[in-house]
Amino acid sequence: MNNIQKPGLYIHIPFCVKKCNYCDFFSLGANDLSCRSGSDIYSSYASALLNEAKYLAECAMRRILRCGALTPEAYDTVYIGGGTPSLLPPENIIELVHILRTSFDIPYDAEITIEANPGTLTDAKLKAYREAVINRISIGVQSLDDAQLGFLGRIHNSKEAEEAVTLAKRYFENINVDFIFGIPGLSGISTSETLKNVRDKASFVIDRELPHVSFYSLITEPGTPLYSWDRAGRLDRVEDELEREMYYDFCNILQSHGYGQYEISNFALPGFESRHNLKYWSGAAYTGIGAGAVSFLPAPEDGQFVRFRNVPDIGTYINTYALSSCKDSCRLPETRGVSEIQEVLDVDARKKEYMMLGFRKTKGPDPELYSQLFGGALLSEDFCQEIDELIKSGYVRNDLSLTRKGLDMGNEIFMKFV
Ligand code: SF4
Repeated sequence: MNNIQKPGLYIHIPFCVKKCNYCDFFSLGANDLSCRSGSDIYSSYASALLNEAKYLAECAMRRILRCGALTPEAYDTVYIGGGTPSLLPPENIIELVHILRTSFDIPYDAEITIEANPGTLTDAKLKAYREAVINRISIGVQSLDDAQLGFLGRIHNSKEAEEAVTLAKRYFENINVDFIFGIPGLSGISTSETLKNVRDKASFVIDRELPHVSFYSLITEPGTPLYSWDRAGRLDRVEDELEREMYYDFCNILQSHGYGQYEISNFALPGFESRHNLKYWSGAAYTGIGAGAVSFLPAPEDGQFVRFRNVPDIGTYINTYALSSCKDSCRLPETRGVSEIQEVLDVDARKKEYMMLGFRKTKGPDPELYSQLFGGALLSEDFCQEIDELIKSGYVRNDLSLTRKGLDMGNEIFMKFV
């Protein structure tokens, strides 16, 4: 098994100081937490995470019974995401990583990432992350313009974001920053994004020699304040043409400074590509721990994979895993109910998904890995008609890498494999 195909472990921390105006992830702001105080609920949740990890590690039967899929024992990447993991007290994070290391086979050179919001990072937390041997940090900066940050509903301003990155550099070499682009204005209140804003973002990364940056186009997700403002006609949208210009400007500046674009929205200096995220785009298995966390795991049936999700309800999750000992954790029926199967993928469905996800990477799906996984030969046997059409349309080169047109037409490419 090559490294990209080794399973990854994802831990979900579903708490934020407050919900951002564009966010539809499963996370609750402090105002949405009823009954218990923040610190109570954080520590109950952290204990539940530890119990879920121990529960999975204790015996193979449990690892199968959870959702009819086999949870692996060894992981070479761990991603603590959210939500805002940096909101949890640092001692919870140290204990969590310790339990993961003692429960599962996680090598010392594993990539262990934690996500952080600049409004919650402190020197003590960064020190604790290093103590826990976390070796990668991903910081949600999003914008360097205070009016835009206010519009997005972020809890920090640009100065705080800059300070958080400067502080993180004292402890981490492997740093990612997240930026959003194409930010609209809200009539009369904030200013929509300009090309200068985008160039400032590129300079921010280059000047600080940050090895990784994610650069996402702002999506208007149903159920968010951004969506209602859009429906009410209150957004001054960035024109499509300008939005594309922003994207290519950013790509060109980064590339001219030695950053490789390895995925539609991700750029890295050589050797700093996210090993964990590359697994998602390469069809690898992963286990999700925590409320609302998704797992994608092999089923005992030949070639099938199961995608299932832990209950996206913090109270139910805590009650289910509020177990203090191994003996308690034998309450299988209750524990089974906490995860729900979303889909079962047979080999054909997995092949299609492999192609769809593979075309998120600028190099495209890897034919060698494809034949290792599925036995067939990409290009000459499987999907030859679809690939031929993509090449003729100018979206993909003969070696399956994306052309500039392909970078723009991701949806058209994905639709070929639906
Ligand atoms: S901090 Fe991140 S997870 Fe939390 S609401 Fe904002 S975008 Fe969503």
